[in-house]
Amino acid sequence: MLEDMEKLVSLCKRRGFIFPSSEIYGGINGFWDYGPLGVELKRNIKDAWWQDVVQRRDDMVGLDCSIIMNPKVWEASGHLGGFSDPMVDCKATKERYRADQMYVFIYLFPQVNHKGEPAEAWLAGLGASPEDASAIPEKKAAKLAKKFGKPEQPPQIVPYLELPEADREKVIGPSTDDRGTLTPPRSFNLMFRTFVGALEDDSATAYLRPETAQGIFANFKNVVDTGRVKLPFGIAQVGKSFRNEINPRNFTFRSREFEQMEIEFFCKPEDAAHWYAYWRKERFDWYVRHGLQSDRLRLRDHDKDELAFYSTATADIEYSFPFGVSELEGIAHRGDYDLTQHMKFSGKDLTYFDEESKARITPHVIEPSAGADRATLAFLCEAYTEDQVGGEIRTVLRFHPRFAPIKAAILPLVKKEGMPEKAEALYHALRKRFAVFYDEKGAVGRRYRRQDEAGTPFCITVDGQSLQDDTVTFRDRDRCVQWRVPINQAESTLRGLIDGDLTVPAVS
Ligand code: ATP
Repeated sequence: MLEDMEKLVSLCKRRGFIFPSSEIYGGINGFWDYGPLGVELKRNIKDAWWQDVVQRRDDMVGLDCSIIMNPKVWEASGHLGGFSDPMVDCKATKERYRADQMYVFIYLFPQVNHKGEPAEAWLAGLGASPEDASAIPEKKAAKLAKKFGKPEQPPQIVPYLELPEADREKVIGPSTDDRGTLTPPRSFNLMFRTFVGALEDDSATAYLRPETAQGIFANFKNVVDTGRVKLPFGIAQVGKSFRNEINPRNFTFRSREFEQMEIEFFCKPEDAAHWYAYWRKERFDWYVRHGLQSDRLRLRDHDKDELAFYSTATADIEYSFPFGVSELEGIAHRGDYDLTQHMKFSGKDLTYFDEESKARITPHVIEPSAGADRATLAFLCEAYTEDQVGGEIRTVLRFHPRFAPIKAAILPLVKKEGMPEKAEALYHALRKRFAVFYDEKGAVGRRYRRQDEAGTPFCITVDGQSLQDDTVTFRDRDRCVQWRVPINQAESTLRGLIDGDLTVPAVS
């Protein structure tokens, strides 16, 4: 289990998974580039999602919408009015925090301070929940306890946004030891703005989409009118979204440009509870099937007071990252809110004619909304392992074979005696079906290690015996088991291993 994000960040950089964007110019906060291995990994994840939710189902179709849409879309969706986080700045350190993620821990110490006032400290901590937010206040309180004595009671915890205005003065910000450095909460619109056409005025203002979902609702009528779909059915889309996040952090987890994989699943109102339960389970199982350990994955149902006003149920699929438990995907039961809003703002009829009841209905919708970059990061964290082979520590990325950027490396044992020629011929044959890699440089042990670090599940080696009996050795990444396979069965063996129809033998 990866505990230190820095190790992963440096492996990603070194091996070409993920680079900071525009790094030669000092980078730009919140933007990332996927290198040669990373682009394959992320693409495999998106392709697996697309195959599983669109191509292998009868009740789903795909869509690919434009990123910039008519700004009315964002009025209807509520993004223009409501899509903003209240922010607080620290006047002393210039840091900026999301006010809804700040909690104030109020400690009372037994002794009075030098002014004769009761010694109390209002310490702000940051996190998605009070537990997550406790680290900074606890550290500061321990220091103060040396001066004023140990608090007799645990601190009182208050969300920053719920503090009466007069009390905000007392708060000591997360990055200072002084009171009163925090500004009042201010709104901050998360949508990136741009202009369409030559004029840069209000009438030309447009927005980069902050989610792909609205393109699906805006096309609902088009898709229904093509006649291929009948309730219940879903529309799926994968694409870039943009949010001017206040505080991008935790590597790619919170970026300003990211990719989403979203489904809007439309059904009759009376079937919505069933489909909500179905997608909640189906999406959770998808991550487990592809290798996320279920004890690091959790499905958290939102409390009633966390729900958006139109939603009757929402669940988050969360993963325990080294930086804390955080959301990978949300599954929301959105009722008929979105279609109703778009009917109101567009004036178009987005109801559906139900053949059974011979009536027009407004379908309800279940929305499983996932992030491709967050999924990629979770699979990277999960895959990262260090183990010992022959007294040597090796770093291995234990990806599911379906996601591995390279499925197999083809290696001549040595660069002579006709081995490279035979290995290259095999490489060219396999390349038609799989992402394979040919490497003849250096000691074979080193080449194995390099593939382990890239997450390549299998190495196929051409050695002296291959020249005599036309067999090759297969080596598996996880247990380093080696076994021989006739060269003319290399392709079917690799296929079987990747698809899970064949398993690695128990011992070499
Ligand atoms: P958060 O609370 O973490 O900001 P959210 O609840 O606003 O996320 P949604 O609006 O539900 O997220 O977006 C759906 C999915 O899109 C998320 O589960 C996540 O995987 C992805 N996503 C959202 N914002 C970002 C971001 N800034 N960077 C990377 N992925 C993101």
